[in-house]
Amino acid sequence: MNQLSDRVLGMSTSATLAMAAKTRELKAEGRDIIGLSLGEPDFNIPDFIKEAAKIAIDENYSSYSPVDGYAELKHAIITKFKRDNGLTYTPGQIVVSTGAKQSLANVAAVMLNKGDEVILPCPYWVSYNDIVKLNEGVPVEVQTSIENDFKLTAAQLEAAITPKTKMIWYSSPCNPSGSVYSKEELRSLADVLQKYPNIIVVSDEIYEHINFVGEHVSMAQFDDMFDRTVTVNGVSKAFAMTGWRIGYIGGPEYIARACNKMQGQITSGANSIAQQATITALNEPPSRIKFMVDKFKTRRDLIISLLNDIPTFKNNVPEGAFYVFPDISYYFGKELRGHQIKNATDFSLYLLEEALVATVTGEAFGNPNCIRLSYAASEEQIIEAVRRIKESLK
Ligand code: PMP
Ligand code: GLU
Repeated sequence: MNQLSDRVLGMSTSATLAMAAKTRELKAEGRDIIGLSLGEPDFNIPDFIKEAAKIAIDENYSSYSPVDGYAELKHAIITKFKRDNGLTYTPGQIVVSTGAKQSLANVAAVMLNKGDEVILPCPYWVSYNDIVKLNEGVPVEVQTSIENDFKLTAAQLEAAITPKTKMIWYSSPCNPSGSVYSKEELRSLADVLQKYPNIIVVSDEIYEHINFVGEHVSMAQFDDMFDRTVTVNGVSKAFAMTGWRIGYIGGPEYIARACNKMQGQITSGANSIAQQATITALNEPPSRIKFMVDKFKTRRDLIISLLNDIPTFKNNVPEGAFYVFPDISYYFGKELRGHQIKNATDFSLYLLEEALVATVTGEAFGNPNCIRLSYAASEEQIIEAVRRIKESLK
């Protein structure tokens, strides 16, 4: 008997988390897997943030917080948005959630009616598609090209818009491609959106600090886009606080109010100790975490130079985040050590079994020709992983 809802039966399991679970399982069996599947900084949380959490425990921050976050945390978020992004939000425009993933899920739940379309430039972050579908929206996947650094062009955006388009969701720096939209590129998308004033933009900026080209641009920085953009961010990536589960949005007040109502019925708000620690994290200037960004850049350069040595891989050069997204479609229709490679999923599973390297199939990100490798790993692991991949492809 299976009494599960159609809604959940129609949903995919998160490919990133599934591969992480599989890696853990294989490691527990004693297999020497190098995990390049999960997008999670491999640094410890900085001590000053840990201290703030300990103090919060001792000071008895143990009751329910306001559903949309402590006032002091909202203040820290407002200050951060102003300092880092030049955005001016009021407390009523901010909602703190249990990770940026919940922030995104809230926005989908409060915005989508059945059949509303959400434009997702491909490759998109793994959960966007299922979050939209779970809320009866229709993901409209728009393929970009590696030649254009996996970025959506104004013409592609215009062609994808229909009377049913409700939102566009994108991340910059992008998970999984590492692409970073420049101000001119975002402006050209905003120019198209000017003709369609009802479309809301969800700008996922969780990797904003992990940017190797310099300028991070928020869609809401354009005055004419501010009132129709939801800016999503969190502390998982910048402060290596993935398990502490704090994300937040800044956006139009009516959307923030609805998200507040939604999570008031679902989670009652985010963890009180983690919220207190986040105040301390956000009050620090981004220079405090520059050491992590420098490390990621060194690793980016390393993995790209190693992958460029595999002539069958087509690589773009990621400008941010901590992923590479090579096109490996050369192998489709070929046989490797008795494995038939029909698609990116077969290729990713082949690497797991034969190279003992965990990656994620591009199909989970809406691009069937690529795989994603996370370089949030040590330089030794990166060198060994690419050596094993090369060896397995000989
Ligand atoms: N957006 C993007 C683009 C991500 O890569 C992630 C993964 N951490 C999230 C949102 C969700 O982050 P979290 O829920 O850990 O804040
Ligand atoms: N965002 C990370 C990733 O893309 C963590 C996993 C997840 O939240 O799905 O791998």
